[in-house]
Amino acid sequence: MLTGCSVDANPGAYTTVDSIFANADKDRIAAHVIAMSAAIDAPRETPAMRSRAFIKVQDGCNHRCTYCIVWQARGVSSSVPVSTVHDRVRAALDAGHGEIVLCGVDLGSYGRDMGTNLAALLESLLDMCGVSARIRLSSINANDVNESLIALNAHPRLCSHWHMPLQSGSDHVLRAMHRGYRRAQYLRVARALRATNPATEFTSDIMVAFPGETDDDHAETLSLVDEVGFLQGHVFRWSQRPGTPATAIAGRVDDASARRRSAEVRRATRRTGALSLARACGRVHEVAWDAVDGDAAHGLTAGYHEVIVEGAAEVRQGSLSLVRAEAVEGDRLRGTLLRS
Ligand code: SF4
Repeated sequence: MLTGCSVDANPGAYTTVDSIFANADKDRIAAHVIAMSAAIDAPRETPAMRSRAFIKVQDGCNHRCTYCIVWQARGVSSSVPVSTVHDRVRAALDAGHGEIVLCGVDLGSYGRDMGTNLAALLESLLDMCGVSARIRLSSINANDVNESLIALNAHPRLCSHWHMPLQSGSDHVLRAMHRGYRRAQYLRVARALRATNPATEFTSDIMVAFPGETDDDHAETLSLVDEVGFLQGHVFRWSQRPGTPATAIAGRVDDASARRRSAEVRRATRRTGALSLARACGRVHEVAWDAVDGDAAHGLTAGYHEVIVEGAAEVRQGSLSLVRAEAVEGDRLRGTLLRS
């Protein structure tokens, strides 16, 4: 079964796949899966309650990154009406979700097609959360983080975690990628968010070996990783995507250099991630429980650190609890339950 932007961009290309859904047809996927399950007489189970409710508020993208096919496949940003978002969030809160994750391809453009904006939506949703739930933004570009959003980072019901795709720390590469920010702006936004809430954590997507990327450009990415101190980085090597403008850009990076750069950025983000975990250790965190497995509970802090607590069989999946982080264990925190 296949879906996604590539299906829209390459109609007829996937002749060996048995079920193909264009983006506009994704609503039919659930029915299709159930029909397939029935056909093979598979046992059907009610999906488990997850702590986090993922609510899509927007689709399409107003940016035109040269390595990306999404803006061609999905078109410009279109927003889910505010009242519909309110209804969906209210239903998720009533179902007991402790964390609402607002999702979109280009979240920062939310509302521009309807005369409103993301900060206004967020303010109204934070009011709905009371003290038993919180909101997280899935991802946002640095150039869309305006003064209103920076101010909201101090709100106790907004997760102090910003996934801001970086892609590169070099202005030369950012320009070629057609990213809407430059290194200085990215750093300015990160510092401003930390100034409003010192517990703020950052995660990111970082692309290495974009055509024309030099060792100096790569060094700028490495230094930016250290300056921001990311908790996590998803590191990718650029690959040729048919139909994207980047395929015509000269200066392919050889494979060995691409692998080396990827390994170096991964090492850098692992190092900064370890520092982030060390900073979080010893502090009290509000944790949203993703899974309770035996008497061990697994969850996420507002800053996006993974946490495990043993002997917490009484916590309810989906709820929020206070946990003191006692130790760093690999890439997660081990804690004790203070209040469930
Ligand atoms: S902002 Fe994201 S989705 Fe939009 S064009 Fe750039 S990479 Fe693609």
